[in-house]
Amino acid sequence: MAKTKYVFVTGGVTSSLGKGIISASLGRLLQARGYRVTIQKLDPYINVDPGTLNPYEHGECYVTDDGAETDLDLGHYERFLDIQTSQANNVTTGRIYQTVINKERRGDYLGKTVQVIPHITDEIKRRILLLGKKENFDIIITEIGGTVGDIESLPYIETVRQLRWDLGPENTVFIHLTLVPFLSSSGELKTKPTQHSVKVLLENGIQPDVLVLRTEHELDRDLRKKVALFCNVGLEAVIQSIDVSTIYEVPLLMQEEKLDVTVLRHLKMPAGGVPDMMGWKQIVDRLKNSREVVKIALVGKYVELHDSYKSILESLFHAGAANNVKVTVDCIHSETITIENLERELEGFQGIVVAPGFGDRGIEGKILAVNYAREKKVPFFGICLGLQCAIIEFARNRLGYGDAHSTEMNNYTKHPVIDLMEEQKGITEKGGTMRLGGYTCLLKTGSRVQKAYNTDRVRERHRHRYEFNNEYLEEFTNNGMIASGINPESGLVEIMELQNHPWFIGTQFHPEYRSTVLNPHPLFVNFIRAAINYRQR
Ligand code: GLN
Repeated sequence: MAKTKYVFVTGGVTSSLGKGIISASLGRLLQARGYRVTIQKLDPYINVDPGTLNPYEHGECYVTDDGAETDLDLGHYERFLDIQTSQANNVTTGRIYQTVINKERRGDYLGKTVQVIPHITDEIKRRILLLGKKENFDIIITEIGGTVGDIESLPYIETVRQLRWDLGPENTVFIHLTLVPFLSSSGELKTKPTQHSVKVLLENGIQPDVLVLRTEHELDRDLRKKVALFCNVGLEAVIQSIDVSTIYEVPLLMQEEKLDVTVLRHLKMPAGGVPDMMGWKQIVDRLKNSREVVKIALVGKYVELHDSYKSILESLFHAGAANNVKVTVDCIHSETITIENLERELEGFQGIVVAPGFGDRGIEGKILAVNYAREKKVPFFGICLGLQCAIIEFARNRLGYGDAHSTEMNNYTKHPVIDLMEEQKGITEKGGTMRLGGYTCLLKTGSRVQKAYNTDRVRERHRHRYEFNNEYLEEFTNNGMIASGINPESGLVEIMELQNHPWFIGTQFHPEYRSTVLNPHPLFVNFIRAAINYRQR
């Protein structure tokens, strides 16, 4: 087995510079050269996982097939690399401390004082190396969340410093991502923040090998030389990352900047030839240049922060590229939708998506949006809570159960068309206890979803506690709302679709977690096709 090599990615100056995208882009380039690559994210916060976090904090919670609730960067890794990540790809400080404290309680430390160094750092190290032991990867990219200089990232920085010593310089590379701000008053790009940020890393014992500079303007050779000289790196190791219109262009820019070649040289791995990015280029070309526009409304309640619906937005864009159209998405706040403004808010869209969510805030606006899509025959896609809203709407307005609701929102409804799953009833702890991860779904022969997937059996990822109440199934079916996807073991309804409507589908699972650039999700592709047809009509 070849030895796994490690790329460590840190960030400086500010947060949100796009370490995840740079890591994913590098991963994609290395993979396109034939290397087996995966990416891991270390998050310095104390939550054990982001499952209990409000989406306003760090954006959406991404779910892996093995049921881990993870940082949204894992979504980028999967979308760029077309791989599956797992629980081992996301580690938080909370999980590290939890493991160490449990060991201490068991008496595993044999009377020793338990300390950040070496016990916490050793546990971080174990988690980093664990991924390489699971599968035969050539290269693992490890992204360290936060910004260097933060108190909470220190144990991670110390750990990767030690790992260079443990594994050797030819098996490790440090990439540091910083910002080169442009001061409009003097018309200058400034390198000082980068120099300071590298100094902070040096104080912590790390000399970065490669610097990726995020910038709004082209960096000339003199500026690159200055950065190289003051930060002790070669000129070829100063990489420009300029703002672009789509994140999927970043791998192509990194290829031009030879980030992959520089990294491979450090790792003493063959770097001849060019990565095969033909298919990728075609998709980027479509994303940028498709003329025809399809307008989609995304109805949700976390719309102030676009990262809350990251995977859904990206899936819609992938599906646009697959259909050779440009998809534009307007996020509409469900709390602002009322009977009075419903028509005004939703007219002019060729498709309506009702988003996942929790709790009753904004729920009536979502139900109104479903009603509009159903009656006006606008293509409709309901995801998780979006499906549940479609079921409530149908029960109220089509079956005549005016008080129909989910028991999540109203425990006293006479018509609980959505109810807590049986196995959820005794659960009191919130963290990691939903129905999570991949489950099989059998598709009804001849249904729209079966045709869209072009198969009878799929595996999709879940994150919910409530489900369709099967006591109502017959009535729904008799009235044209059919269960076209069922879990074979539990009989839980996974997909509902409305007949006599151009495209009205709701899924209890989250298809958005499985859409990748090279493999756009069939339901999203089919939905956008329906939106194109709707417009043409
Ligand atoms: N709140 C709903 C449930 O728990 C839907 C969850 C979701 O949309 N992810 O079942």
